[in-house]
Amino acid sequence: RPVILWFRRDLRLEDNPALNAAAATGRPLLPLFILDEMGEGRALGAASAWWLDKSLRALDAALRTRGGRLVLRRGDSEAELRRLIDQTGADQVFMNRRFEPDAFTCDVDIAHALRHDGVECHGFNASLLTRPGSVVTGAEKPYKVFTPFMKALLQAMPDRPPAPAPQVVFTPSDPASDDIDDWGLHPTAPDWSGGFDWSPGEAGAASALAAFLENGLKDYAAGRDVPGRQGTSRLSSHLHWGEIGPRRAVQAARQAAAQGRVAPAQADKFVAEIGWREFSAHLLHQFPYITDRAFRPEFDAMPWRADPVALAAWKQGRTGYPLVDAGMRELWATGWMHNRVRMVVASFLVKHLLIDWREGEAWFWDTLVDADLASNVQNWQWVAGSGADAAPYFRIFNPVIQGQKFDADGRYVRRWVPELRALSDRWIHAPWTAPAAVLAEAGVRLGKTYPRPIVDHAEARQRALDALKTLAGRS
Ligand code: FAD
Repeated sequence: RPVILWFRRDLRLEDNPALNAAAATGRPLLPLFILDEMGEGRALGAASAWWLDKSLRALDAALRTRGGRLVLRRGDSEAELRRLIDQTGADQVFMNRRFEPDAFTCDVDIAHALRHDGVECHGFNASLLTRPGSVVTGAEKPYKVFTPFMKALLQAMPDRPPAPAPQVVFTPSDPASDDIDDWGLHPTAPDWSGGFDWSPGEAGAASALAAFLENGLKDYAAGRDVPGRQGTSRLSSHLHWGEIGPRRAVQAARQAAAQGRVAPAQADKFVAEIGWREFSAHLLHQFPYITDRAFRPEFDAMPWRADPVALAAWKQGRTGYPLVDAGMRELWATGWMHNRVRMVVASFLVKHLLIDWREGEAWFWDTLVDADLASNVQNWQWVAGSGADAAPYFRIFNPVIQGQKFDADGRYVRRWVPELRALSDRWIHAPWTAPAAVLAEAGVRLGKTYPRPIVDHAEARQRALDALKTLAGRS
């Protein structure tokens, strides 16, 4: 009798606890992936679907080199599992848990239902350093502030090295599988993915990590804030789909420090960012309502504006603020945006335009290749000031100063907003302040070749602060 290895967001063979446990049974393995549109509580975003398509193909190819293959099914998870169990006589299911509230509940329900019928489900953790709920305060409460959470996480984190991929035997039977081409995961209407330059899959994740260890890590603490450089790991989508585990990433950075290849402070900074991912996942697991409502309930009364024209300008990178526009265009062109710029564009939407953070969160969800419910929601609420350990709302990023500080040589803006390319560094982050002769020489015609600012910074800032005042006394 075979055992089912149910892949979900753990699309890797190395350091995969469910795979290791399934292999240890000595029984033939039946690798399975179910595309269950409703299983995670939210439909996949279009950019995530693009990634999943490639990642599943890569996993299937890796399994085939070992004599197996990935069985693909589409539909309700429990119904599809039962069908496969009936077809193959499998009596055990091995899986790595998902911790988002809806996905978690769905997995628990399936495990109960199958157990009732004599099929045992074995759940493991492959996606996080520690299980949500296991890092709590002395009073057994969830942490709401990052720094003490991180301290406790470092102590709770198991120090085991990631396990290599085991030798496995696959089931000789050949249960029916969908053809991934029929799933239509690659976008068609429109297919805007032509500029996506990513290598989904376990091998792509290993290459991204190796490149980062070689180039980015030694100057990560400062380099991570400069969007014109490739100073970060670009591991986020690989981590989201479990093509690499966070333990592997942490261990690699620490090893580089232990071997003297980078300063320990650089590795610590990188581990802290993985810690933010962990913090986000723990928060969502413990406060499930934060996908739709503010963590701090008083923020649900914020007088958001409905402004479809401004929202469209934001999405399309036509706000007239070069750093904001560069970020939104990078997102559209590549499916990814630099973290510093994510903070700036999110702040611009929520504060300068006074548009509900949920609008921005939904756009990111659809267009980011690394869209991750916990990280996206946590970060949007961080920017909006409504989150657990959030930036205070009254601290309003000035997009011009952010540009001058973090894109001082204008390299990032010139790359994504080519119509401003000929402007000198002095004017590139605020073209409307440039003298007419300068604009003319650079071929910039405001309102024609590049938009004028859709809001005035000082006025928008004041409007945002006034909106905040309406919340005073509600907390
Ligand atoms: P690196 O700097 O190399 O960081 C290493 C890893 O640490 C990342 O891959 C990621 O897993 C984690 N990480 C880093 N910063 C954060 C953070 N602030 N919060 C949580 N984890 C972090 N990240 C997502 O993975 N998915 C999202 O949907 C997402 N939405 C965001 C929305 C907003 C408004 C903002 C401000 C940030 C968002 N982030 C999200 C966090 C962060 O921008 C990305 O994780 C990071 O830019 C990914 O690039 P990297 O892998 O090169 O990061």
